[in-house]
Amino acid sequence: AKKHYHESHEYFMADMEDNTRWRLEVIRHLRQDFQSNKLQVWYQPQIELNSNRVVGMEALVRWPGENGFVQPPSVFIPLAEYSGLIVEIGEWVLAEAADAWRSLQDLPNAPHRVAVNVSMPQFRNRMLIDRIAHILGSHRLPPTALELEITESIAMDEPKVVISALGALKELGIRISIDDFGTGFSSLGQLRALPINCLKIDQSFIREIANGRGGMYAETIVALASKLGLSTIAEGVETTEQAGFLRGLGCDEAQGYLYAKPMTLADLRQWLEQRIPA
Ligand code: C2E
Ligand code: CA
Ligand code: CA
Ligand code: CA
Repeated sequence: AKKHYHESHEYFMADMEDNTRWRLEVIRHLRQDFQSNKLQVWYQPQIELNSNRVVGMEALVRWPGENGFVQPPSVFIPLAEYSGLIVEIGEWVLAEAADAWRSLQDLPNAPHRVAVNVSMPQFRNRMLIDRIAHILGSHRLPPTALELEITESIAMDEPKVVISALGALKELGIRISIDDFGTGFSSLGQLRALPINCLKIDQSFIREIANGRGGMYAETIVALASKLGLSTIAEGVETTEQAGFLRGLGCDEAQGYLYAKPMTLADLRQWLEQRIPA
């Protein structure tokens, strides 16, 4: 039995080594492709449920591989976070998003804001506020046109660091939303202490609206947000039933395949041009 344990332990160690080697390999490749300008930023529109108007867009990074899109963000973003590379990538995404926003402003139905995701390693960087202010200035994005999305788990991770950083960002006029809301473990007390504007209802709760459970969680989150004076956006909206249900709850905005998938800036421009104004 002892030998058996020992053997499986060795296999386990070999597995770990393989896994570590694979991770380092992906990180090296990612850094290389980032430095040679191979990453892209795609955009997904955000729609106001009452008016059916486009109000915003979320910037989502893409890493194109040799044959089509190989690495999904769910795989490489955690590695970029682990390696610290996300700090540089995040700033680049913000600069790209700012340029994209500005380039669309000639359209009558241009989104009036753009949302960018922020990761924990970016919050640990004491320069975060200065860096963001600098990028906004040099890329001429008004702070009120920027929304930063941080996940609920980040917001609860190191409350002191995060609360003061968010406070400073909000003071600049930047809108702050809590991403994947409902999947973390925030208490009402913690939530109330956060200087934020919006709760982004996680896709998992929107999916339930179709299958009987009737969106009890979405309903609860919208009610909570309203009591706290926060706005709400639903993500992963795929059907008109879901959109109708959310509108009925008083949810403010929606984002999802029902309206559009994330797309390149050129495709988004075309999509906006073809969209019949509400
Ligand atoms: P997220 O911020 O929660 O983004 C929403 C994800 O849902 C996106 O996946 C989007 O493509 C997908 N989605 C949108 N509408 C629908 C829908 O109707 N149905 C379904 N099934 N999915 C939908 P994506 O682009 O693969 O990004 C995954 C995650 O990677 C993001 O989740 C975010 O956490 C992270 N991420 C992406 N870009 C960045 C970035 O620039 N910086 C950071 N820090 N994280 C990023
Ligand atoms: Ca997001
Ligand atoms: Ca989300
Ligand atoms: Ca997510």
